[in-house]
Amino acid sequence: MSSCGRRMEPAGYFQRPNGEYVLIHQCLGCGFERFNRIAADDDFELVLTLPALPPRTSSEVRAERWEEELQETLPGTEVA
Ligand SMILES: [Zn+2]
Repeated sequence: MSSCGRRMEPAGYFQRPNGEYVLIHQCLGCGFERFNRIAADDDFELVLTLPALPPRTSSEVRAERWEEELQETLPGTEVA
């Protein structure tokens, strides 16, 4: 759960260069993103119904910074 306490919803997924799939959960309140490596027991077909997103890593994406950049550089972009 994120710091603001709102619900985390699956926002999409991406594939790392090593072939690993990562599920992105996003907070409905503050936009905080959490990355979850997709495990063998996850419902992979369900994951693939989500939008494919550009690859990102938790080290280069800090949620707050990402939010600021999104607002500054992509003011008209819809965040699903
Ligand atoms: Zn939040």
